[in-house]
Amino acid sequence: MDSEALVVGAGPTGLMMATELIRRGIDTRIVDRAARRNPHAKAIILQPRALEVLARLGLEDRIRDAALPVVAANYYTRGRRVARINFRGLKGSRFGTPLSLPQNETEGLLLETLHEAGGRVEYGHRLTTLTQDADGVDAGLSDTVHRTGRLLGCDGAHSAVREQLGVAFDGPTYPQSFVLVDGAWDTSLAHAEAHYFMGPTGVLVVVGLPGGLVRVFGSAPEGATPSSVEETVRAIAAERCPVPLRLASVSGAGHFQVHRKLADRFRDGRVLLAGDAAHVHSPAGGQGLNTSIQDAHEAAWRLADVIRGRLPEAALDAWERERRHVAEAVVTDTDRQTRLWTWGGWRERARDLAASAAERSGVLDRVLPPRFAQMDLRYPAEGPALGPLGPGTRLPDVPLPAGGRTHDLLREGQHALLVLGGRTPFAGRDLPVRAHLDSRTARALGARRPGAVLVRPDGVVAAAAALTDRAALHRLEQLLPTRRDTSKTTTPPPSVAHEEKA
Ligand SMILES: Cc1cc2nc3c(=O)[nH]c(=O)nc-3n(C[C@H](O)[C@H](O)[C@H](O)COP(=O)(O)OP(=O)(O)OC[C@H]3O[C@@H](n4cnc5c(N)ncnc54)[C@H](O)[C@@H]3O)c2cc1C
Repeated sequence: MDSEALVVGAGPTGLMMATELIRRGIDTRIVDRAARRNPHAKAIILQPRALEVLARLGLEDRIRDAALPVVAANYYTRGRRVARINFRGLKGSRFGTPLSLPQNETEGLLLETLHEAGGRVEYGHRLTTLTQDADGVDAGLSDTVHRTGRLLGCDGAHSAVREQLGVAFDGPTYPQSFVLVDGAWDTSLAHAEAHYFMGPTGVLVVVGLPGGLVRVFGSAPEGATPSSVEETVRAIAAERCPVPLRLASVSGAGHFQVHRKLADRFRDGRVLLAGDAAHVHSPAGGQGLNTSIQDAHEAAWRLADVIRGRLPEAALDAWERERRHVAEAVVTDTDRQTRLWTWGGWRERARDLAASAAERSGVLDRVLPPRFAQMDLRYPAEGPALGPLGPGTRLPDVPLPAGGRTHDLLREGQHALLVLGGRTPFAGRDLPVRAHLDSRTARALGARRPGAVLVRPDGVVAAAAALTDRAALHRLEQLLPTRRDTSKTTTPPPSVAHEEKA
């Protein structure tokens, strides 16, 4: 065997996958067909749940230094503002708002963590063939064959891995194409906000970028050609935005088509498909990269444990079920948003009335920021709950009395047992992370009774039990993992809250 794992594609998905596998001690190779690093900024919006994953890699400060917080989104119809969503009220995350950071910069930070973990991307290696048997996978890379235990297809929307497996990737392409120009735009529009201008000829979106730059993108009028992107964006900006937008210089431009497709399977034997190789959808709401890096992070911790024999193969089927659930929700949500942008006539009026009413009642601010952030996404799972903490839910990231926050307990990259008030169950067990949280923190997490919560490395609750519920405690005990070597994993967790006494 040449490696335990081979990651094909060094976009955000592949970089996250390789970094996390290497940090977990898996002998991993990562290749990309491109000759060098991607210089382009497709995605710009990073949402809090994906940011939390990046923070667990130790990137929190570097991202905050480089990115621009996006504090609100404004929706206008025919020049008049019909709704505003305030992102600042987001609770239960260390990231109170989405952040704007060009994709190439996010990839640069992921590359740094890959290098810190001891990995290197091998550019100029294109996967052309793939066959697998019971023991491994043979990957044809340019003119060599590489034998690996597992292969991770992170090679984007036109995935060769997916094609080699014969996995269908069906779904429609939106009729309109989109154009974008990033650069220095002179405008009085609030920089740290997103602005959506909807009108009879299409949509125009204006979003601030770090360094005083701005992204302007919108649906292209019929007949627009890739060679006239700048001209087209200037024209639609003048036509659809009531506030002057003057382009002073260009840092990036593109003309793209939007598709809505889901791979038939995300897993085929020893091969997994993650990121755009498994799902593509409209950029509305900025979800693609966010979903993709979570696919990779959640595959990597399980795969590492499967390779080391600590989890059964079925754990990878569970990964596929969960990530398909997320991908379906994201494809549906982004499709709805894209269609809402382009409604006319009575539908447009109904949309605007509903949006204004929802803003006035506070529903927009309450419901949409956690949804865009993917914080309210719950994996399908059954079992006893402790207040809102049940199997499949995300553990809120709340402050701890001695400093730090609950997600800091996950930095070791292992499961954590949180004891919320009362006596510690399973006292004699050698657990990866056990933390005793006081009643104030328990209340902040929504738990009203003393209990125990087992949290997975991805911040998802695996099981919860009230301390008085013996059956639920027994169920949780069955899932307790044992401590493993953490020498290659992430930043050590802070000393706070470990075995803190209530
Ligand atoms: C205009 C635009 C705006 C967007 N805005 C947002 C946003 O704001 N927020 C958001 O979350 N998402 C956004 N997205 C989506 C986001 O860009 C993608 O979801 C993200 O790039 C997916 O990452 P990936 O690593 O899966 O795929 P990619 O970024 O496509 O990377 C795939 C990599 O695989 C390599 N590769 C391909 N084939 C092979 C092969 N045969 N052998 C070896 N290597 C190969 C490629 O060279 C590439 O480096 C946007 C997309 C577009 C087009």
